[in-house]
Amino acid sequence: MKKTIRYNYRLKPTAEQEVKLVEFGAYARGVWNLLLSENMRRYRYDKTFLFYNEMASLIKDLKMFDEFSWLKDFDSAASQQVARDLETALKNSFNKGRVQKFPTFKVSFKQKKLHDDSYRSVNTNENIRLENNGITIPKIGTVKIALHRKLKSKIKSATFKMRHGKWYVSLTQKVECKSKKQVLSTLVGYDINSHYTVVGSNGLYVENPKVLKKSSTKLKQIQVQLSRRKKGSNRWHKTKSRLNKIHGKISSQRLAFAHEVSCSIAKSSDIIVFEDLNVKGMQQFNGQMVNDNVMGMITELTRYKAELNGVVYHEIGRFVKSSGICYGCKYEHKFDLSVREFSCESCGLVQCRDLAAAKSVADTGEKELIANGILARALPKFQQKSASKMKVFEQSKFGVGSEKKEAA
Ligand SMILES: [Zn+2]
Repeated sequence: MKKTIRYNYRLKPTAEQEVKLVEFGAYARGVWNLLLSENMRRYRYDKTFLFYNEMASLIKDLKMFDEFSWLKDFDSAASQQVARDLETALKNSFNKGRVQKFPTFKVSFKQKKLHDDSYRSVNTNENIRLENNGITIPKIGTVKIALHRKLKSKIKSATFKMRHGKWYVSLTQKVECKSKKQVLSTLVGYDINSHYTVVGSNGLYVENPKVLKKSSTKLKQIQVQLSRRKKGSNRWHKTKSRLNKIHGKISSQRLAFAHEVSCSIAKSSDIIVFEDLNVKGMQQFNGQMVNDNVMGMITELTRYKAELNGVVYHEIGRFVKSSGICYGCKYEHKFDLSVREFSCESCGLVQCRDLAAAKSVADTGEKELIANGILARALPKFQQKSASKMKVFEQSKFGVGSEKKEAA
């Protein structure tokens, strides 16, 4: 099985190249709006749309006119890509099974007060390639790139975008997944909660990284500072750009954290079981963590790394209860979120709430996988595969779980 993966790299364009990148982003937006308005006109007229081929030839024809001479300056593969994207968006909006709305016009950054134009180009005949410490981009030239990791295969497409004042390129490639594991012998369930980020049934505890907390505090400070400045003044702009920088820093720290955790999870067992985040998200997380969506990033990344490694990734059914179940005797308890540790009312086993939840996620997952025919039989119990050693991990933080409470 082939899978498309995406790597992001920092770009370091010269001033001239940056002007062009900004221009090209605006061109892509222009092409989108142009084709969309043509499609809307057509739809009003005879209830039909333009398909990709028609849109592509329309672009070609428009190049003849002086008014649209800018189309000649733009990368033609990129304008074709816009047509392809628009076709998909139009089709999706008419697909009843989906929730996408009819595509809308893209507004300029001046109106949005944001600068997030981007454009995507497709590699044809190696016109996008890495060479001389840079990436060669059609009609722009070779832009310096920070190649922090090697590509695994040929570049399929490239998206150029600016975020938080820095330029990035995201390169997609097709890679072959490892063949599915034939023998599945280890299964680990993961509980996701806001106290720890992730707790595994194998005794893995992941805490929110301290750097993130630190930057969040800093963020709040700068926000307060900004509110004190006169809007539009020099000092306001200065503070605003500091704020933008810290936002950028936080998002890269979060991504790095999610990568680290998901990598370690993907490596530590043959079967990975998570809860369905949609339900959990609504029930449990109030405030910050939902906005951050670190959990979503972790499950998303774990899923894709599992696929690459030939490991099974499974999310348990939506309405299966997982918290408050004793892992010794399966007795169900009810208690509110503040309880971090409890002793079973039935058998007296003292346990950490999150670990118990992770173990019950693992149990549910195992049952479901057997029911689906993915797993032939129950796995041997007490398989202990230790969690990877990472800075963010603290194994068995509570010394609980083994000793029984004295009968009262
Ligand atoms: Zn019990």
